[in-house]
Amino acid sequence: MNILLLGAPGSGKGTASEQLIDKNGFTQLSTGDLYRAEISNKTELGLKAIEYMNAGKYVPDEITIGMVAKFLETKSTNLLFDGFPRTLVQAQELDKLLAAKGTKLDVVLHFKCDESVLLERLSNRIICPKCKKSYHKVNIRPKVEWICDTDGTELVVRPDDAPEKIKIRLEEYNTLTAPLIKIYNNKMVELDVTNVTPKKLYEDVVKGLKL
Ligand code: ADP
Repeated sequence: MNILLLGAPGSGKGTASEQLIDKNGFTQLSTGDLYRAEISNKTELGLKAIEYMNAGKYVPDEITIGMVAKFLETKSTNLLFDGFPRTLVQAQELDKLLAAKGTKLDVVLHFKCDESVLLERLSNRIICPKCKKSYHKVNIRPKVEWICDTDGTELVVRPDDAPEKIKIRLEEYNTLTAPLIKIYNNKMVELDVTNVTPKKLYEDVVKGLKL
């Protein structure tokens, strides 16, 4: 089964993915994580993406689609799409890429969340640059300040989690990604994730996916 996690930045897509990978054996395709890996390896692709990402803007479609097409060469089933597609063009291209592999998107999980909650979560988010686990400065703190519980790596604030960048990212989502909600209507499961803990989020996801 291929699943798309559709939701604004901070809605919990990464947190749900983490649990679906650990407990249900899915493979995550997170275009944000792929870009961050390219940036830390200082590749040509990373150099192209960094200026958009740090500005809070979407990377141009052709660059992202090329990167996803390359990923799909290695695996095209049991995937969790996290952060892709984010535009109508990307959605159309994904359909074509999956059809060429004899597969498709089966379910779209739409994470609905109040914008004030997204803002509060993103502006308090700290992440592990190694395992990608995210924490909240006040509500979901690591056992040792600024150290990842899982692998002991020093936690960081993502450059695009600066307040002025958060605003731009939410605008990008509302303008370019929210229209996808309509096109996926026939395979959509709606989840209200405004006031849920990571544990409850996973329970709701499992119920929504009938796993
Ligand atoms: P978030 O969901 O919190 O915004 P991501 O890690 O998914 O975080 O994405 C971070 C950034 O990576 C985006 O703001 C954008 O610059 C770039 N990016 C990721 N996925 C895409 C995509 N599908 N299309 C264009 N840009 C993308």
